[in-house]
Amino acid sequence: MKKIITVIGARPQFIKAAVVSRAFAANNVVEKLLHTGQHFDTNMSDVFFDELEIPRPTWHLGIGGGSHGQNTGRMIEAIEHVLMQERPDWVLVYGDTDSTLAGALAAVKLHIPVAHVEAGLRSFNRRMPEEINRVLTDHVASLLFAPTTAAVSHLADEGISGAAVLNVGDVMFDAALFYGAKAETASAILSTLSLTSKSYALATIHRAESTDDPDCLRHILNGFAQFAGIIVLPVHPRTRARLSAAGLRLPDNIRAIEPVGYLDMVMLEKNARLIVTDSGGVQKEAFFHRIPCVTLRSETEWTELVEAGWNRLAAPSGAETIAQAMQAALGTTGKSIAPYGDGNAAGKIATRLLEEIAS
Ligand code: UDP
Repeated sequence: MKKIITVIGARPQFIKAAVVSRAFAANNVVEKLLHTGQHFDTNMSDVFFDELEIPRPTWHLGIGGGSHGQNTGRMIEAIEHVLMQERPDWVLVYGDTDSTLAGALAAVKLHIPVAHVEAGLRSFNRRMPEEINRVLTDHVASLLFAPTTAAVSHLADEGISGAAVLNVGDVMFDAALFYGAKAETASAILSTLSLTSKSYALATIHRAESTDDPDCLRHILNGFAQFAGIIVLPVHPRTRARLSAAGLRLPDNIRAIEPVGYLDMVMLEKNARLIVTDSGGVQKEAFFHRIPCVTLRSETEWTELVEAGWNRLAAPSGAETIAQAMQAALGTTGKSIAPYGDGNAAGKIATRLLEEIAS
């Protein structure tokens, strides 16, 4: 029987895979999930499988917590072992994590074709581990599912074009539409936290560039301290560890909570007056729910949102820049744009992979 093995390992990949796995199930495609273990805490992993109804992984490698080299190396070895036994027709990978690259490398060396969802994104900052992972994965993939026209052009600039590249739209948009409606009834997070709509800002910080340098973290916290109002901050495990190592205390207006499940996150996003983040996914979700956003980076892969005025960049190199950008963003909207497809990216991915498998 023809089959696809999907390699996932980190929080945003669970959300993306949820919508694509549902489209596979609707099309009778046999998909088996391989979870590398990159994110393993209950609230960074299990909650997504439960509430988004993702099929249970057939393999759980339990690889996480090491350096990039350690994780990627161990993952390649373990994924190769599974692929040699299973011999799938395709390997599907998502985004830009070490799990993405490990899955892609293990597969191509066994001559198993790789499909990459979220192909063609570029920050043009090669110091980001994510940028290295996505560039290398794109260059070994046989099918590249790009989320935007900008992503298609980036691939063309690197010599990747033709039938292998397909602009299907963004699977995160599919997820926001599908689970956004569900969250309205399924999430009780606002009452649990005693929050009312539009009474708070929502922030997330987790990237290596924001958290590894204590000065950078200090600027972010000092910028947040100047904001007149509550900031709800679901604290990523990496950020918690870095804050504690640097001995940094959160300002009084920060409401720190544990990471939440996706339905609660969507609810927190929809009802925020402002979103401040260094996350790729959260920047876009701010736009999907039409909430003004400040991105704590000096560049972004999702440039269309900055150009249309939905998002502002504020490099975390000074507290003032951050505080000013947050103040300026409050109450703003952007131009009417629709760069992320029609909400059926997952269906298009499933259809194309089915065609490939059948041919
Ligand atoms: N997210 C979540 N709970 C949280 C924080 C984030 O469900 O406490 C979701 C968020 O809505 C988005 C995804 O996780 O869909 C983003 O993941 P992350 O920021 O870790 O990665 P990135 O998008 O930057 O790759």
